[in-house]
Amino acid sequence: MAVKYLDYYKILGVERDADAKKIKAAYRKLARKWHPDLHSGKKREEAEEKIKEINEAYEVLSDPEKKALYDRLGPNWKNGERVDSSGFGDGVFYRSSNIDPEDLQGFSEFFSSLFGAEPGRQSRRASYRSAPVRGQDIESTIELSLEEAYHGLSKSITLSTAAACPECQGSGFVGRGFCRRCGGTGSISEARTLQVRIPPGVHEGSSIRLKGQGGEGLGGAERGDLYLQVHILPHPVFTLRGRDLETEITLRPEQAVLGDRVTVATLDRQLTLKVPPGSRSGQKLRLKGKGMPARQGENGDLYARIKIDLPRDLSEEEKELYRQLAELRAPRQAERGVAE
Ligand SMILES: [Zn+2]
Repeated sequence: MAVKYLDYYKILGVERDADAKKIKAAYRKLARKWHPDLHSGKKREEAEEKIKEINEAYEVLSDPEKKALYDRLGPNWKNGERVDSSGFGDGVFYRSSNIDPEDLQGFSEFFSSLFGAEPGRQSRRASYRSAPVRGQDIESTIELSLEEAYHGLSKSITLSTAAACPECQGSGFVGRGFCRRCGGTGSISEARTLQVRIPPGVHEGSSIRLKGQGGEGLGGAERGDLYLQVHILPHPVFTLRGRDLETEITLRPEQAVLGDRVTVATLDRQLTLKVPPGSRSGQKLRLKGKGMPARQGENGDLYARIKIDLPRDLSEEEKELYRQLAELRAPRQAERGVAE
């Protein structure tokens, strides 16, 4: 049985005199890069092979005894050299036939030959030993209607998260052409649906944190968090200004002149608003505490902006009254003109 010599230093990309710290750092970097959970399709198969080699190299180079043996024998190994018990005279290791196959699952034949039957030692089963890496935090936007922001709700949202394109394994190319599935970008989006509870009174730009709904963790580490930034959509009736709301009320001229009581709609009910006599167009009347609900402190206010609408369909009688008004008004208007 021909056993191929494996250069563990080369696999980890370190010099032969690298210290334990450097070896560990190189291992962690590679293990992260080639973690199979980060790859899919053919690339995943490649990653599974790579990670096996990387784990094995680290298994040897991080263990002083194994490293010493490997270093001692290294130069005697040649590509394709036969390995049997008679090949090594000092009896430190044994033939691969002595190995408990269970203990060597995932290790190369080279490793098995070298360390498999070491007396009194049990080889650890190969596993992904990369240090656990917490998943990434993901930021996204959630769009809410003003009503939804005002009342709060439980809303299901669909997020698309990027994943390596299975067609081209994330390379963006198939053969010599661009990958059609991903348009050459190497990534596709995967849809994920989540239920999100929105508290009443969230404001524009605030962030809702969903613990553990971010990127997947590696090596059993927890997932990252998902941060949803709130964007409140424009509303046909109300304008949001910070925590205050603004709306428009339309008055007839006589209502503005004489004052009146009018009905104003808020986001959850109808209110009666007292319009004082002599109200002007563009003036804002405040309804205290009727704006956006506050989670802490005081609610925002609702402002009703006055718009005076001039009637166009006047009857003869109404026109006559306006003429009378005009006549009554004329002398006083002239007085003011002289006074000024
Ligand atoms: Zn692709």
